Amino acid sequence: MCGVFAVCGTPEAAKTTSVGLHHLQHRGQEAGGIVSFEGEHFYEHREGGLIGRIFNKSVVARLSGTAAIGQVRYSTSGVKHEDVVKQARDAQPMLKKILPFGTVALAHNGNLTNAKTLQLELALTGKVFETQKSDDEMIDTEVALMLIGAAIEPTLVGRLKTVLPLLEGAYAFIVMTSKQMIGVCDPLGIRPLMLGRYKGAWMLASETCAIEGLDAEFVRPIQPGEMIAIEDGKITSHTFSVKQPSRLCIFEHIYFSKPDSTLEGKSVMQTREALGRELAREASIDADIVCAIPDSGNYAALGFSQESGIPFAFGIIRHHYVGRVFIQPPDERDRDISLKHNIVRAAVQGKRVVLVDDSLVRGITAQRIVARLKRAGAREVHLRLSSPPWQHGCYYGIDEANVHRRVAKPYENVAVVCEHVCALTGADSVAYLSVDGMYRAVHGEPRNSTCAQSCDACFTGRFPTPLTDRCGGRIH
Ligand code: SF4
Repeated sequence: MCGVFAVCGTPEAAKTTSVGLHHLQHRGQEAGGIVSFEGEHFYEHREGGLIGRIFNKSVVARLSGTAAIGQVRYSTSGVKHEDVVKQARDAQPMLKKILPFGTVALAHNGNLTNAKTLQLELALTGKVFETQKSDDEMIDTEVALMLIGAAIEPTLVGRLKTVLPLLEGAYAFIVMTSKQMIGVCDPLGIRPLMLGRYKGAWMLASETCAIEGLDAEFVRPIQPGEMIAIEDGKITSHTFSVKQPSRLCIFEHIYFSKPDSTLEGKSVMQTREALGRELAREASIDADIVCAIPDSGNYAALGFSQESGIPFAFGIIRHHYVGRVFIQPPDERDRDISLKHNIVRAAVQGKRVVLVDDSLVRGITAQRIVARLKRAGAREVHLRLSSPPWQHGCYYGIDEANVHRRVAKPYENVAVVCEHVCALTGADSVAYLSVDGMYRAVHGEPRNSTCAQSCDACFTGRFPTPLTDRCGGRIH
């Protein structure tokens, strides 16, 4: 995950960026950073914590300029969570002096699957990495900056055209120099990057909600393998890879993106309702009420209720002062699950409850909620998940703690996974949406049809890029 935002051509660019990042806070809660530019100077501020707290009036006032880029961080590599000083150290945007461009700032959303291999090659040529504190602690963003520094083309666009084809994995980059702003989307478009326009200014953001939240106009997504360069208010488009159909992460539709965003021309909220309707068709059950595990299960639960005719009830209330549990560091995650939800006894007592969530990775949230529903008097609890079992992990920007601690094991039969989850959570029945059901909701047709395809590797095991650092580059 991570969220990136940039704006150029407007006064108070840092203020606009802080608001844009605020709209992207759901993509990363560990740290945030903004770099702005004015005249000859770059101004920077990075800190651990949430955007609203970090970028108060006085901090924003120090970040002068008509151009700024920023990031909200969810760490999949580098230092994690436990120390706010260390969080700030690894927060982005990252800056490097690169001749002849001067200072180059880079903000990254995604994960490079050959970063360690590239880093070893660069280390052999004498390059020293600032973010490497041990063998496992190194931030892939620095590898990209090192490669840009080592290339010889005279323009930044030219260097990126040389460097980007060397990178494997998923990435949306925003690069800023004193002259240019550049937005880049990986050759398969696994991570999203959107272009927006507000009066004379251009914006780049991980999601449309950040553009529209600023009352700006969403122009279009950056295409897979596309690089757009903004200079003196003019925009040019360049390609750096052979044109390929998009393989946008399907989990963006299911969980990552905010429901008020648009992806691939569709409302994320409406797609989630469609996932719930498919789920009701595939895994119906005789019950009295449908409840969501809020907030992520809300829209699928609504869809399930619409399709099944079982009334929707607010049986679980979410505490809004606790962030997204999935993107929290593991220690905080376990503590915050208990703080996050409470049961409305009057709504569930004596009822047979269909409990809907978008996905299940470790099963801890579902386990606690099922137990609490039963303590509150629910007669039966039937767990329904609006995506298939998360069996294969993700190497494109998900914390490895999630990958290693998932309940569903690779290639395990779905019926066996459901038995495990029943035993773990204490639910009376468990059912997942099928891969074809997920595709019908997102793309209108089953997976292996003529419809658009997505990255669905965490569900199917079919990774769309090489995983060089993990298995010698074989495509799985
Ligand atoms: S593996 Fe899953 S979470 Fe990762 S990019 Fe692909 S669909 Fe998204």
